[in-house]
Amino acid sequence: MNLNELDNLLVDEKPFRAKQVLRAIYKELIRDWDEATNLSLEFRKKLKDSCTLDIDSELFVSDDNNTCKALITLSDGKKIETVLMRHEGGRSTVCVSCQVGCPMGCVFCATGKMGLVRNLTSHEILEQVLFFARMLKDKEEKEITNIVFMGMGEPFLNYENVFKAIRMINDGNCFNIGSRKISVSTCGVVEGIDMMTKEDMQVNLSISLHAPNDELRNELMPINKQYPLEKVLEAVDRYIAETSRKVMYEYIMLKGKNDSLECAEQLVKLFRKRSLSMLNLIVYNPTGNFEPSDPETVKAFKNFLETHGVFVTQRYEFGQDIKAACGQLASRK
Ligand code: SAH
Ligand code: SF4
Repeated sequence: MNLNELDNLLVDEKPFRAKQVLRAIYKELIRDWDEATNLSLEFRKKLKDSCTLDIDSELFVSDDNNTCKALITLSDGKKIETVLMRHEGGRSTVCVSCQVGCPMGCVFCATGKMGLVRNLTSHEILEQVLFFARMLKDKEEKEITNIVFMGMGEPFLNYENVFKAIRMINDGNCFNIGSRKISVSTCGVVEGIDMMTKEDMQVNLSISLHAPNDELRNELMPINKQYPLEKVLEAVDRYIAETSRKVMYEYIMLKGKNDSLECAEQLVKLFRKRSLSMLNLIVYNPTGNFEPSDPETVKAFKNFLETHGVFVTQRYEFGQDIKAACGQLASRK
């Protein structure tokens, strides 16, 4: 798909044209401009000549059929991955990428090992949602209900395009997904958190925490040297004070690294005065550097936190057999 020229083509058109075109692509899910019969033949020809609608992709499906991963080739040949997770009760979540690669270099993350190749445009972010919207329509399944920015890349390093895409995902003329069903996850870019605090549309915020002190976080997430723990937590406190929304902190359990009861104790201190915060314990998906914590260790860790008043959840992992789980996305081909 290539919509790079779309904005240029729309510049000379009346504003309602833009709405019609975006609606045709993202709501009516057309795959050929000839299906957009409300547009003039002449305009359709222009669109056909410069804006392609086919998505170049390869699909991988997990054994239990609940997870699908698409490797999408962008118009310049770069590749990104996106994942669909089907939950019980008819909910389905698309996990989207916002960059090719990521410059943050978190040591546990496969995307981080790639470094940054480039930011995605808003249409390239939407293309991922569109891929699965078309697939579900073909299968006559229920529409996508949730979107998480937990694929490749750091959303707050591509803030403008991410929020442009979010507004379209939310738009009734496009995917029409409620802001409460959209989540953005960051490794802790303070300016991004502050900008999100001021957005008129409130989407959910997740913070990749992964360590309870600066020393360990510096080691796991180099970005902590630029945005130390206290600064990140203060930015989240401002977000909560302004929006009264719950914030999810993500914590990967790494064997012998961040899973001691001493770490749990430090977390309790961090969360003591933070009432609208939840801690999500995540199983580490092997990327070569660490091992996942033993189930008994996770249980003891969780138990300690809960008895000391921290609200803890555990994430069910999807699609490990097709390398579609968190932190495993990297364009291998
Ligand atoms: N860059 C953003 C969003 C993408 S990563 C961020 O870091 O928050 C989405 C989530 O997957 C983050 O919480 C990230 O820390 C986590 N993750 C990265 N590598 C992982 C791995 N190997 N196993 C489990 N989760 C991982
Ligand atoms: Fe980038 Fe997030 Fe991976 Fe860190 S965890 S390298 S911020 S994608």
